[in-house]
Amino acid sequence: MPIATVNPANGETLKTYDALTDEEIKHRLLLAAGTFRTYRTTTFFERARLLQTAADLLDADRDDIARVMTTEMGKPVVAARAEAAKCAKAMRWYAEHAQELLADEHPSARDVEDSGAVSAHVRYRPLGIVLAVMPWNFPLWQVVRFAAPALMAGNVGLLKHASNVPQTALYLQDLFRRAGFPDGCFQTLLIGSRAVEGVLRDERVVAATLTGSEPAGRSVASIAGDEVKKTVLELGGSDPFVVLPSADVAKAAKVAVTARAQNNGQSCIAAKRFIVHTDVYDEFAELFVSGMRALRVGDPMDESTDVGPLASEQGRADLEELVDDAVECGATVLCGGQRPEAYAKSGWYYEPTVITDITQDMRIHREETFGPVATLYRVGDLDEAVALANDSPFGLSSNVWTHDAAEIDRFARDIEAGGVYVNGMTASHPAFPFGGIKRSGYGRELSAHGIREFCNITTVWVG
Ligand code: NAP
Repeated sequence: MPIATVNPANGETLKTYDALTDEEIKHRLLLAAGTFRTYRTTTFFERARLLQTAADLLDADRDDIARVMTTEMGKPVVAARAEAAKCAKAMRWYAEHAQELLADEHPSARDVEDSGAVSAHVRYRPLGIVLAVMPWNFPLWQVVRFAAPALMAGNVGLLKHASNVPQTALYLQDLFRRAGFPDGCFQTLLIGSRAVEGVLRDERVVAATLTGSEPAGRSVASIAGDEVKKTVLELGGSDPFVVLPSADVAKAAKVAVTARAQNNGQSCIAAKRFIVHTDVYDEFAELFVSGMRALRVGDPMDESTDVGPLASEQGRADLEELVDDAVECGATVLCGGQRPEAYAKSGWYYEPTVITDITQDMRIHREETFGPVATLYRVGDLDEAVALANDSPFGLSSNVWTHDAAEIDRFARDIEAGGVYVNGMTASHPAFPFGGIKRSGYGRELSAHGIREFCNITTVWVG
């Protein structure tokens, strides 16, 4: 895949970049290692000041970087601005909370005495150079979600961003440098995915985090496993959105549209499978389909656009294949199911789509739809809803709509996912852990759990 900005709204290649040479990669690694030796000894106060500055700069750059993101991957510019604002907020959150999240822990006096120590504590120390392999769908957020805690913990980062968002990738490196972080604290490596192995096997790189597809995750995790290096994987998702009879159905249907179509349907935590109790199925289906139909598809630079193009031609082809396979196997298309006529010749657009009569033999039943395509299922009771929700290789997050306390408890107990969001859609927040189980990956980002993933959790025992 070339490293290039190609506008998904018209397919035009705007800028191409040469990948770094082996020599240039070596130089970056040397710089990162040298920087880590001193950066690791900086105080939380110093790191927080730098991160606050980065947040301020990002706020000031919001409109410009939003346009860059929209040009590179097609998200509506309004959403791109919101993403930039969310990143600044997360930076400030970690600047404010990191010291308390990584404070020394003191076992009870009784346990200390029992161990034979005079004193003992647990200290969170930085690990070193962490490699971040990131996707294009939230090109700022995915990176900041890693970088803010990693830098606050005293680590340094190397970013291998997706090849279609090089300008956003370079912006991030520049942002941290302008904020005053020492050179080498955060570097962007413009490299293709084949060059990842060499970087990961370098002995100075101690860990890796990857957000992306399952094949990419498997590859990075197996190399890291071979090198005995820690990884965090945030992979795909096919989150269920369950609607039960006690739900506010109108609200559920409205949120369902946003939950499915956000980011042009290309979000790992987008609700993708809509599982609705038969008592409220007809009402929900009508409202949901009319909501999806009403979405304004168009130029992502237009402030009134709800759904822009998919990020790549291949991404649209993959989505079309899943829909076509379902239709051939007997599924019913309730709306969409094709390229919008107005954009037939230019741009990688796809109509917001709802499909029903899904059966287990259809690919769409088990694979992730990375675009504005929803599958709609009817179920007869709670047990069937839970079983269907769990009938997926993925386990990222989940949504359930009910006002029945026993049902909420049942979902919180039984849903195979890293999140259970009741009467609302999944959205990440710096204070809450984020991540999945099953084929959605392992490890957590954000919150105390996220910042501790890349720490050397050290027992200090004094006899
Ligand atoms: P992708 O193809 O896996 O790419 C993600 C990153 O991995 C890119 O930087 C890519 O580089 C790199 N990469 C690809 N193959 C690699 C390999 N064999 N070794 C090392 N690096 C490799 O994923 P995508 O299509 O861009 O993103 C969509 C997927 O990401 C979806 O499945 C989505 O659900 C998932 N995702 C998950 C989360 C989460 O938090 N769980 C969030 C967002 C997205 P190149 O661009 O150079 O190929």
